[in-house]
Amino acid sequence: MPTKTLEATLAPPTAHKERKLQEIHDLYHKGLHEAFDAGADTQSAVNDIVTPYDLPYQVKDALKNYVPKLRDTYNASELDDDHPTRMVNRAARFDYSEDRNHSYVWEVPQPGHGPNFWIPLRISPEQEQLWADLLDGDVSPGQLQLIQNRTSWKLHVAVEYSAEEPGYDSDSNGVTHIGLDIGESSLIMGCALKDGSPTRPLVCDGSRAKHLRKEMHTTLKRLQERDAAEWRIDERFDHYQNALTDIVEKASRQAVEYARSFEKPVLVMEDLTYIRESLDYGKWMNRRLHAWAFARLQDRIEDKARAAGIPVEYINAAYTSQTCHECGHIGYRDSGGAFHCTHDECHVTTFEGDINGAINIAQRVDPWGESVPLKPASDDSPRDGSACDSTTIHTEQSQSEQMTLGEFGSKPTTSD
Ligand SMILES: [Zn+2]
Repeated sequence: MPTKTLEATLAPPTAHKERKLQEIHDLYHKGLHEAFDAGADTQSAVNDIVTPYDLPYQVKDALKNYVPKLRDTYNASELDDDHPTRMVNRAARFDYSEDRNHSYVWEVPQPGHGPNFWIPLRISPEQEQLWADLLDGDVSPGQLQLIQNRTSWKLHVAVEYSAEEPGYDSDSNGVTHIGLDIGESSLIMGCALKDGSPTRPLVCDGSRAKHLRKEMHTTLKRLQERDAAEWRIDERFDHYQNALTDIVEKASRQAVEYARSFEKPVLVMEDLTYIRESLDYGKWMNRRLHAWAFARLQDRIEDKARAAGIPVEYINAAYTSQTCHECGHIGYRDSGGAFHCTHDECHVTTFEGDINGAINIAQRVDPWGESVPLKPASDDSPRDGSACDSTTIHTEQSQSEQMTLGEFGSKPTTSD
């Protein structure tokens, strides 16, 4: 069953409630360290250690589950300081009323003698449906994590939800492979392969996200240099993160709607683990969105695709931006984002780089696509720009769906 994490920020608690949260948090860490340092590797060994702790049973139970796994499963040899406080799902008690300022409230568990208290939650509007499903019992809660940020508290609730089962496999007949290239000069460039021909590309503009990220960087740096109060920094950080989250939600929705407009769609994206292994990782990543936004965008596309019953496949990302989608030879991308094929016998000379990447991604999911020749770039001097007119893609779609380089242009890229 797919899982997902509901995220909420606790509305600023009163001093009394804050103290209670802090007590649980500090005691949890004390218990975690004591049990870990003692080498407790079974539930009962952890139980012996945490029994005297004045912690809610939901927290103790989470420790009993978690600590034995630390060495065995996660191979941990030491503990970080920033562990969230974990609670088992019996701490997932929420209430909803639209009459309140914050509609959702969480019942914070207290040690045996209680009494428990309620804290209002700020939830993301995008997750409102899942919160409603959780309260209605349509999805079941898993572990909870209480996270202390510098000035605020966050609550993460894992939930298991049922996804629409796709009515077809990703390798069945008649599927449409849709390559998504994420985070180059466009936030998302999508391209469907219809009978092998690139069709009707999707472009989600990335300039707003890029602008926000830069502005965030400068603003936070300036605030830090000025020794601004931490709450001010946090507030600005939240502001930018929320703005980026909105962009991510909108773009992922667009990508899935685009996929749904084709027959038996299969989404194809790059597997990031390959990127990490690649030598020019740093350089490549710098051209892309900041890592979290990038990974998050992929996650959200996958969530939404699965909820819509669309299969998702990942491919090896090596050379997707430098390979010619037409002849399979390695060419190069110029600083303007255009792809150049240097193979003499290929009719592609210059092509919009992101679309070329998206087509390569879609092609590669097909096992035959893996056999594309990976030839090193030839020493031929690149042909000059006069060839721009030869990049029209064959498509059976109407005139308006045909793509030319001119239509998408080579956007100027700002180096960062
Ligand atoms: Zn070529």
